[in-house]
Amino acid sequence: MQSTCPNMKCGNTAFESQEVKLTNGNNHYVLLIQCDKCGCVVGVIDNGGVNAILKQLRERKDN
Ligand SMILES: [Zn+2]
Repeated sequence: MQSTCPNMKCGNTAFESQEVKLTNGNNHYVLLIQCDKCGCVVGVIDNGGVNAILKQLRERKDN
């Protein structure tokens, strides 16, 4: 199944991801999935949990 841009006038099927830092978070990043053509945001992936796990792994490796 192919995803299509929710913008009726656009109908594009190509998307891009963009990492965005939230101002209210403590180094909290989310990944926006947006239309390659019109920039309409179609999804958000909360990266905070993943970053926390990566940080833990990194700290463990350093010790
Ligand atoms: Zn679009």
